[in-house]
Amino acid sequence: MEILNTVAALHARTEMWRRENKRIGLVPTMGALHEGHLQLVRAAAQECDVVVTSIFVNPTQFNNAEDFQLYPRLPEADATLLAPAGCTALFLPSVAEMYPQPTVLRFDFGALERVMEGAHRPGHFNGVATVVSKLFHLSSPHRAYFGQKDLQQVAIVRQLVADLSFNLELVAFPTVREADGLAMSSRNRRLDAAARTVAPLLYQALQQAAVVVQEGQATPAAVLEAAQGVLATEPTIQTEYVEVVDAQTLQPLAEWQPGQAVAVCLAAYIGGVRLIDNVVVAR
Ligand code: AMP
Repeated sequence: MEILNTVAALHARTEMWRRENKRIGLVPTMGALHEGHLQLVRAAAQECDVVVTSIFVNPTQFNNAEDFQLYPRLPEADATLLAPAGCTALFLPSVAEMYPQPTVLRFDFGALERVMEGAHRPGHFNGVATVVSKLFHLSSPHRAYFGQKDLQQVAIVRQLVADLSFNLELVAFPTVREADGLAMSSRNRRLDAAARTVAPLLYQALQQAAVVVQEGQATPAAVLEAAQGVLATEPTIQTEYVEVVDAQTLQPLAEWQPGQAVAVCLAAYIGGVRLIDNVVVAR
């Protein structure tokens, strides 16, 4: 596996692969890799001829300077995990390399970004769309792999691909979880022992909610109540939001149709660490 630190080096590589008719898979990450990331890389390696994994803690998608500073950075350890997973090239640029000048272009995804992560992290999806667009241009992937753990990010990137006619297939990969149900996340490293013990309650709340979604007479309000009931059993969980939304539009549901795909999404602080998770269930 080669490590590419510059935009020019990545561009040169991908142009070469394109000339050789290689199918390129891209896995964008912020590093501190875990099994969730590695499963994306393995899927890309199975379905493509070459795999580019990017590791870039993207400052423009952080609305909180402390969160950006505390975000775990482990590039050497990450590099040793990527080669066995089938990664061909690790793209590891500096901030100056990705942003030689401040960006002026701004993205507005309308209703899609006025809810949940977009509502609670102003500017977040502008930063995501900026960096993802750059990575798409630089690596010209045939397929790009994203995790459903970040359900709203997948929806935003799907819109980005459609609106800007990126010629690639977006792959939304199911959430990879720890044995106790906690969604794998780079931020889990920041949980202390007490917080780590409590954290699986987030998924338990979502599972309870999923049961209610499938009950014949249930309403979205009853689903919310079920999730909030589980979260309220643990005073150290500070829930930022729980939402019952349409799984495509991500708009909150007051009622639903038979067969509708419903997503229950949440964000919560545990021991000062912000975690998100979701489940998608057919009604
Ligand atoms: P991140 O490094 O957290 O920005 O994540 C990079 C990519 O990996 C994103 O597309 C995430 O949605 C995805 N990802 C993160 N955690 C998981 C997980 N537990 N299961 C599946 N994909 C994940």
